Amino acid sequence: MSGGLDLRFGEVRIDRQAVVPLWIDGSPRLASSSRPSHEPATGRLLAERSFAKPDDVADAVAAAAGAAPAWRALGMVERGERIQELARRIAARIDDLALIDALDTGSPLGAMRASGAKGAQQLGLNGAVGIELHGSTIPATATGWHLTKHEPFGVVGAIAAYNHPTLFTCQKIGAALVAGNTVVLKPSEQASISAVAIAALSADLLPPGVLNVVPGGRDAGEALVAHPAVERIAFTGSVPSGLAVQRTAMASGRIKHVTLELGGKNPMLVLADVDTDVAAAAVVKGMNFTRVQGQSCGSTSRVLLHESIADHVVERVVRTVEALRLGLPDDPSTQMGSLVSREHQQRVLGMIDRAVADGATVVSGGGQPDRSLGLDDGAFVAPTVLTDVRSDSHIAQTEVFGPVLSVLRWTDLDEAIAVANSVEYGLTASVWTSDIDAALSTADRLDAGYVWINDVETRFSGVPFGGWKQSGIGTEQALLHEIESYTRVKSINIAVGALSR
Ligand code: NAD
Repeated sequence: MSGGLDLRFGEVRIDRQAVVPLWIDGSPRLASSSRPSHEPATGRLLAERSFAKPDDVADAVAAAAGAAPAWRALGMVERGERIQELARRIAARIDDLALIDALDTGSPLGAMRASGAKGAQQLGLNGAVGIELHGSTIPATATGWHLTKHEPFGVVGAIAAYNHPTLFTCQKIGAALVAGNTVVLKPSEQASISAVAIAALSADLLPPGVLNVVPGGRDAGEALVAHPAVERIAFTGSVPSGLAVQRTAMASGRIKHVTLELGGKNPMLVLADVDTDVAAAAVVKGMNFTRVQGQSCGSTSRVLLHESIADHVVERVVRTVEALRLGLPDDPSTQMGSLVSREHQQRVLGMIDRAVADGATVVSGGGQPDRSLGLDDGAFVAPTVLTDVRSDSHIAQTEVFGPVLSVLRWTDLDEAIAVANSVEYGLTASVWTSDIDAALSTADRLDAGYVWINDVETRFSGVPFGGWKQSGIGTEQALLHEIESYTRVKSINIAVGALSR
């Protein structure tokens, strides 16, 4: 299935022979070094990618800094219209972008299409709502006028994770550009092709330098964070990388505004009064076994089931995950693809082994999929369900970022909430009950930035998404609120009549 790949996005050709360029100052550019990139699901060569080094990043930042004054001067309405047009172009090419993302990450085509479409939608909404970014007038004195304005930072450095490439490109550039900043985006080195394709779609829409894309590794990310012209950094990735970003920012000797969207070990707390079949379906959905093989920051990977319903829910979950169709990402019938790399596959398998050594029981999966599926060349891990998980064990405390669900049981709600809150992370949480009082009070007591009641996984444009505790700083997806986060407030005080007194 994965043979055909022959796409063109403006000046950029994406096929198995082409070298995918960087995008700097409105044009494709080959970096001094490149790396072969292989499809994680098959091991087959996908493309050769230009790999940005710190010098390339410096060029991109210089282009962005040069473009910033004119982009800002364009005004909100014009910027918003161009961003909306870029969103329409992305939506029109969503099948092609989804194919690239599916081959690049190993996730099923349908999942990449859905999340990419969501990204295009959010980009368009950001373009539309920017005009509502009002300042205020403040009655600080009787005669003076006191105003606030939101002004852009200049150059935004954006760094993204690999699991939803098109979605993250849209999310990382939309609010920042609408606010009047220019952007240097460093996509994940593991899945960077669609970001370059999207930049190429913007070529005749955004003036040169307004959007720059520099696929590269950690050193490129560090160079972007440390650059003195980059005052605002928007980062999505793991907690250790987020900490490293903060260290780099500090070591640069500059004050920087850093937002961090990091990992999670998210609890789903199921009370005894639920429809157990509905809850079991939600357990599977919340873990993101399908779509991204568990590789979502918001996955509810710790399920806390009331003792009285636990056996039934586990039995239903196991039955459902064992029926999932594992396969190649570009096969439309595939429900579950591969992880992003062999290295990550080995890390996930190692975490399962450690969980078993710590006393957990594998009730489904636990290793690579059955050989009869013919997926041995890819980074596949079978959907895995673990029971007898101790709340203080490594697997219960640490993000796997793979298809591994830990099931814990409880009888006392206070203790269950304490267990839910017992991790370093605080990204998402989910509560299931038909008792409205229990639902609301439990939601209030959970240490997480994004809580669902009787739902999982769904994200809502306009609703702030962001982590507490070690899961991050700041929020995204909240449209106007997010656009504002890419601005600095300037207060202007007018002394009316002062010169004529
Ligand atoms: P990662 O931390 O390995 O890499 C993320 C990005 O950071 C990549 O572009 C990488 O090159 C860059 N990077 C790594 N070290 C850096 C450094 N020292 N300085 C600057 N940049 C650096 O994460 P990943 O494996 O790509 O993604 C998985 C992680 O991301 C998980 O922990 C997941 O929960 C998290 N994530 C969070 C969200 C969210 O919205 N909260 C969304 C998606 C993924």
